[in-house]
Amino acid sequence: MRSLAAAVAALALLVTPLAAHQLAAPPPAGAEAPALAVAFEGGLWFDGTGFVPARYYAVGGRFTARRPERIDATVNLRGRYLLPSLIEAHNHDMQNGFFGARSNAKNMALGIFHSVQMCSKPEDRAAFSGFLGQPGTVEVLYADACISGSDGHPLGIALASARQAGMEVSAEEARRGYDPIDTLEELERVWPTILAREPKLIKFILINSQRRSADLADPATFGFRGLDPALARPIVERAHAAGIRVVAHADSAADFEIALEAGVDMVAHLPGYRIAEGMSAADYRLSDRAIAQAARRGTVVITTAVAATHDMSRRPHNAEALRAMQIENLTRLRAAGVPLAIGSDDVMGSVVDEILYLDGLAVMPRAELLRRATADTARAMFPERPIGRFAEGAEASFVAYDVDPLERLDVLRTPALRIQRGAVLGP
Ligand SMILES: [Zn+2]
Repeated sequence: MRSLAAAVAALALLVTPLAAHQLAAPPPAGAEAPALAVAFEGGLWFDGTGFVPARYYAVGGRFTARRPERIDATVNLRGRYLLPSLIEAHNHDMQNGFFGARSNAKNMALGIFHSVQMCSKPEDRAAFSGFLGQPGTVEVLYADACISGSDGHPLGIALASARQAGMEVSAEEARRGYDPIDTLEELERVWPTILAREPKLIKFILINSQRRSADLADPATFGFRGLDPALARPIVERAHAAGIRVVAHADSAADFEIALEAGVDMVAHLPGYRIAEGMSAADYRLSDRAIAQAARRGTVVITTAVAATHDMSRRPHNAEALRAMQIENLTRLRAAGVPLAIGSDDVMGSVVDEILYLDGLAVMPRAELLRRATADTARAMFPERPIGRFAEGAEASFVAYDVDPLERLDVLRTPALRIQRGAVLGP
């Protein structure tokens, strides 16, 4: 196995300079295929409030409302309801090879063509991530660093799942899956290796910062703690100086406030996806100050509200309080105009589960929920990509449904057609 890996690595070294050269060279004259032009007729297109008749063309995979001179194919959408393809703002289902292949199929089938993977080091996905971002596959934005304490989440989960699989993995080995940092000196030492990954996005993890000293004294919390909150701001300062966006995993309302104070660009969870042992729903109620700060700075909050269903089934006595707290926090964030991005944090599920769960909380009209799940989430998570909207020059990626999602939202589970960059992928 080792020698095979070495051979593959050596081959990669031999091949890479050639491939880089080929990419840099201009294509030979006349080699470029003409951009395919497809007409899409008979559809009802989502305009942010409802579904309206329109006609769009896809030329070279981009939308235009102007009829091109030549049309290569015409697709009759037969009165179907069309949404821009969906975006998963928070998941971990494409961070390793086994899950990557499975999750690509799962997401593509639901018309989820873009996904943000929140905790991944480039070396862990090197073997397969090159297959992504191609026709028929999901385009992924990885949070290229995942910073937590050396005794922090996700260490506990990594050790527990290794034990479950009957493997003996030391804490030291398990720490290779993320970026453990405990002090400012360590941050200084590790920072160049993080920069070398050329990240667009990095994440750090705060967990129950308000009771940190008690947790440090309690061996039961080993592996489930977070980063020393004093490191939040130094990380954000370094990242922003390098043009890197920062997302914070916040568990409690206190974590949310620390993340905001540190100046993060995004918060990865709406606090209250669980009620931790020894805490109550009130520990997850966001402060007015933090909400106002998020609104002022345009800090994006990723919902991950459906993640609470795991805690609700484990601790049903908390379910009602948890749900009420989610409704209260979301209602206040929405009223303050804080940007919300829709993501599930569910490796077995998807952002479709999140959309349906949020609909069940009834905190906003359905059309607004669909607009937030498409245009708003696209803008928040993939600001450089022209996706999530029907507009001139936007990527011609969309999903067709047989019934009006505003009438029956669970039709999101059964797309009739999926179109990726102008190519029809079928149901
Ligand atoms: Zn997560």
